[in-house]
Amino acid sequence: MINWRWLLFAVLCGGILLFGGWRFYNPLSGRELKTYSFYDRQGRLIGILSADGGPVRTWVALDKISPAAQNVFISLEDQRFYRHAGIDFWAVGRAMLENGRQGKLTSGASTITQQLAKNILNNQKRNLWHKMVEALLAVYLEIKYSKAEILENYFNRIYYGNLIGGINTAARFYFQKTPQELNVKEAVALALLAKSPVVNQQRLFDHTLAKEIDRGLAYLADRGVITKEEQDYYQKVPLAVKPALNEKILAPNFLYAVLKAEARQKKQRTKITTTLDYELQAAVVNIIKEELARLKDKHINNAAAIVIENKSGEILAYVGSADFYDSSHAGQIDGVLSYRQPGSALKPFLYYLALENGFSPATILPDIKMSFPAGNGVYNPRNYDDQYHGPVTLRHALGNSLNIPAIYLLSQVGGGKFLALLQQLGFKNLTRSPEHYGLGLALGNGEVSLFEISKAYACLANAGIYFKNLLFTKEEQLERLGLLAADKVFLITDLLSDNAAREAAFGPNNSLKLPFPAAAKTGTTKDFRDNWAVGYTTEVTVGVWVGNHDQSEMRNSSGITGAGPLFRKILLKTSAKYPAGKFAQPAEIVSRNICLESGLLSGSNCLKTRSEFFSPHNLPPAVCAQHAILRGRPTFIYPAIYRDWLAENFPRQEYALQEDRPLKPSKFHILYPPHDAYFAVDPVLSREDQRLTLKVDNELATEWYVDGQFIGQSGLTKNVAWQLEQGTHTIEAWQDKQGTAVRINVY
Ligand SMILES: [Zn+2]
Repeated sequence: MINWRWLLFAVLCGGILLFGGWRFYNPLSGRELKTYSFYDRQGRLIGILSADGGPVRTWVALDKISPAAQNVFISLEDQRFYRHAGIDFWAVGRAMLENGRQGKLTSGASTITQQLAKNILNNQKRNLWHKMVEALLAVYLEIKYSKAEILENYFNRIYYGNLIGGINTAARFYFQKTPQELNVKEAVALALLAKSPVVNQQRLFDHTLAKEIDRGLAYLADRGVITKEEQDYYQKVPLAVKPALNEKILAPNFLYAVLKAEARQKKQRTKITTTLDYELQAAVVNIIKEELARLKDKHINNAAAIVIENKSGEILAYVGSADFYDSSHAGQIDGVLSYRQPGSALKPFLYYLALENGFSPATILPDIKMSFPAGNGVYNPRNYDDQYHGPVTLRHALGNSLNIPAIYLLSQVGGGKFLALLQQLGFKNLTRSPEHYGLGLALGNGEVSLFEISKAYACLANAGIYFKNLLFTKEEQLERLGLLAADKVFLITDLLSDNAAREAAFGPNNSLKLPFPAAAKTGTTKDFRDNWAVGYTTEVTVGVWVGNHDQSEMRNSSGITGAGPLFRKILLKTSAKYPAGKFAQPAEIVSRNICLESGLLSGSNCLKTRSEFFSPHNLPPAVCAQHAILRGRPTFIYPAIYRDWLAENFPRQEYALQEDRPLKPSKFHILYPPHDAYFAVDPVLSREDQRLTLKVDNELATEWYVDGQFIGQSGLTKNVAWQLEQGTHTIEAWQDKQGTAVRINVY
């Protein structure tokens, strides 16, 4: 038997719930959304976004919307709007029949009330449950509100693409009209936008929406909403799209990033003073537009750029994509924050680590065929130009972005150390093990964002002081951290700002050459998917990415030709307002004259020398002894590891090879004295008796030279002896046209 007390209780509860719901659930309240106003660093208004980061809307009463527009929307979207109670069962039935026939699910049975319910619920997912809740809300709306109220809310709340919510803003943005002035054709266009805003927002500007608009007009004529004459008239009259471009937000990606930063800090401000420099931002937007037009034939559709003020960590300009409103190229993706492979753009941090580990700008690095263990096999790195350049200074290797010396350096300093440094520098996506990346990390096989890479370069610009965050608004606080050693950072800056050092690969007038001191590096990924150019002056850091958001390949575009010119123009523009100074040289930095072929302090026989900067702990260990007088000429004696490179590149030329670490036996070797041997002159014994008998490992006729002076010929029955003299000496042996040499030291 039913307990009547429980039944009464249940009925009462239900009644209270119903009454409460009816009384307090008013889904159509809150006409104007809370909005955020954004100002630039000088206090100029640069944009308004609604509280949810969504479209801005300004309300208009139903009687201020032209009757033509009302009729068009109702006819195209929901013919029986004034007759149904929220759900149009007749349309649902017809849609189900059609879906059954076509074998696919198309919507179209959604009433205006249902579309409004969907807008209120703001569901991203579209499963059966959500559709049922929507339908229930639609019925609720129909019971609680009048048809006029529902229609007014529909016009004012629906999204029309390009960040525009509401017909008032849409009419103004697309046609520079009020909703009262909209004609039939414009209303059809807006109805199509409301139907598929993301697909159609750009097509309206491209005039590729014409066919659909004509079809809409024909449909209206068929149903007697407009006359045949009106249809003909509107089909002939072109649609006057007059986008109010000044209403486009100049830095949409930036404003969204600001909103995210605000949410992270749980801030409740509605007036936000950002760090953006409006004029600079406008200039960067224009430069990107111009340069992309120039690069069109290279299949480059997008670019992103960021400008940071070094001393404050404030973001001066931030462009996430070439055109935020261009959905055909995914313009709403923020290229500043997207993760892509950096190519060579991380090399400066590897070279920094090398300087920390005993290398100097003068150190000679081998750019020759080399194999490195990798996984179960071997890795044979190649250069961008597919050439091998032999012994090169570290300065030359970084300047010309040679891959093999970079891989060699990473093998020397260790992948784990490099990965740890990059993680300290804020590269958040490099989360795998050092083994996962292997030596490829030197060439950028991990993914980074333009934001991260520019922030890391700003650390170089700030002499090693790292900013944990960059500032989007004037109210944020900077978190500083001393991370890199100032003397090594200065050396990296000097390397990256040396235009002569990159001439060999990029030519004397490359895009990174600027009329003021500027450090810069480019990056190009395999298959030309991404181009980077990042760099800094004393005042600002600029990062540029060029590529396609859909990751499609560009045509023959490298960092230096693709991103480089954008970087150059942006840095020139920025530096007009934030003039570059001279990079400050730390007091401990010393300069020494070095031999460019041995990387050691220049000696009297050296041919190519220059003044080089050193950190005081990393001075060259000795004076160059690799240049010696051979047969009366100053000659460079190559270390043995260059044997194959020499044979391949200079097959007809004579060269001298050091025998300290032979890779494989040559035709003949000097047996005595051994290379790098030490001898002492005995002051008691007669000098005549202190001689070295020079020997090779065969018995052929051999000419001997000491320090370039001929001293005799040895053979099967004849020895040559040399009387000891104090000093460092080069002893050469020649058979036919083949020569070899050793160096000895006599005290
Ligand atoms: Zn030398």
